[in-house]
Amino acid sequence: MNKRATIIGAGFSGLSLAYFLQRRGWKVELFNQSNQPGGLAAGFREKGWQWPLDSFYHHLFQQDRAFRHWLQEMFPTITIDYPRPKTSLLLEGKIIPFNGTADLWRLPGFHWNQKLHLGAGMGLLKFSPWLPIFARQTVSRLPQLLGAQAFGEIWKPLLSAKFGDLWPEVALGWFWARIKSRSSRLGYPQGGFAGLADKTLAYLKQKHVSIYQQQKLSRLRPGNNGHWQFTFNGRRHHSGETTILALPFPESLRLIGPLLPRRQQQQWQQWPSRAALTLVLRLRKPFLMDNTYWLNILNPVFPFVVVVEHTNFISPAHYNGEHLVYVGGYYANDDPLLRQRPATILRRFTPWLRKIRLDFENDLIGFNVFRARAAQPVITPYFTRLRPGLETGLPNLYWLSQNHIFPWDRGLNWTVANTKKLARLIDSKTRKRPRAS
Ligand SMILES: Cc1cc2nc3c(=O)[nH]c(=O)nc-3n(C[C@H](O)[C@H](O)[C@H](O)COP(=O)(O)OP(=O)(O)OC[C@H]3O[C@@H](n4cnc5c(N)ncnc54)[C@H](O)[C@@H]3O)c2cc1C
Repeated sequence: MNKRATIIGAGFSGLSLAYFLQRRGWKVELFNQSNQPGGLAAGFREKGWQWPLDSFYHHLFQQDRAFRHWLQEMFPTITIDYPRPKTSLLLEGKIIPFNGTADLWRLPGFHWNQKLHLGAGMGLLKFSPWLPIFARQTVSRLPQLLGAQAFGEIWKPLLSAKFGDLWPEVALGWFWARIKSRSSRLGYPQGGFAGLADKTLAYLKQKHVSIYQQQKLSRLRPGNNGHWQFTFNGRRHHSGETTILALPFPESLRLIGPLLPRRQQQQWQQWPSRAALTLVLRLRKPFLMDNTYWLNILNPVFPFVVVVEHTNFISPAHYNGEHLVYVGGYYANDDPLLRQRPATILRRFTPWLRKIRLDFENDLIGFNVFRARAAQPVITPYFTRLRPGLETGLPNLYWLSQNHIFPWDRGLNWTVANTKKLARLIDSKTRKRPRAS
């Protein structure tokens, strides 16, 4: 008889783990709170669109091999396109291209020795291998590495928008990983990530994975013979031989924290994170007329930090000719913006959007707002040392989340790399273990 694994959470962690375990001969059951798969990379589809759109902007980098291999293994006919979309900075009200060395030399208002310092610092990070010092130091070393002007005018506004007042505590390793692993060519699968999550779910069903959607795990307790007892929507369920929590870290901690050593629970509960919000605009005409895909906003008074014009990256033909723009930011988990109605958020952002394109409202077809709490863990040297392993230390119970990823920045590629490793670990541990009666 097959061994049975119970996975909670059908984001890309839960989906890819279900795939790897069923490939290894496990009988898998997958529970998810939401009524759609994909978690942070789930999406929505408007009438007339050929493809759904991810609720939060997503792309891959050329180095993201684990994700690419998984996709090719599961769906050999789905291709990933790697165009080279344009990145720009909004600097003193002007859109300035920022795609590579040539643009660096054209940065307005920067003395040549500052440009040289920035170029050398970026090169050093890009070509440096991982060094333990990156985990011990924080980004407050960056002015020395990248030059005071470049840090103050480019990186500091971005870091403080992403991490709020906590930015000086972010590990230098987090910044190194972003520079190291990024390519100027960006990957996007046919049908988008939301479409891919739907296809993966259909594939898993075909492979006899049992899927239970709209099932929120509210309680988890040790059961008999090393199994776990769950409560979903008020109903009880008994786990298979192995249980995996593929949930946001604070949610897993809410569920199993009281079962962990007290000191560990208290330390992990203090691990800060930031919420993410996107306002998605559907327009008749482009918003960023110069074909910019990714516009970093360097002025901290703006209530958002990035404008991502998806259809300057992927053809609007997939979306019935509509031009789709994400206006995104990171916020404290208790920021009132996260509770406001979509129309209030549009009203709040509109004066700032007009500074970029004055008449955008004339082309507005519609808009949506998406928000997720604990969407970005704050990676500090302290939490780097305390980061959890894939084993919880509780019998037959494993976990993985964005907080398990280091030194690389959280993302789909490292998520899949971790699930592949976890499937191997679970399989080898269970082979050594006598079967529960
Ligand atoms: C704004 C933004 C942009 C991003 N851009 C990129 C990018 O360009 N490239 C990239 O690679 N990555 C990107 N990421 C990161 C990427 O989205 C995540 O790393 C990845 O989706 C995490 O997957 P996950 O399955 O671990 O978690 P999640 O996606 O959070 O999935 C968790 C799942 O658990 C379910 N769940 C939660 N609580 C319960 C419960 N109690 N019971 C049952 N189910 C529950 C949820 O419904 C969800 O389906 C981005 C993230 C954000 C926020």
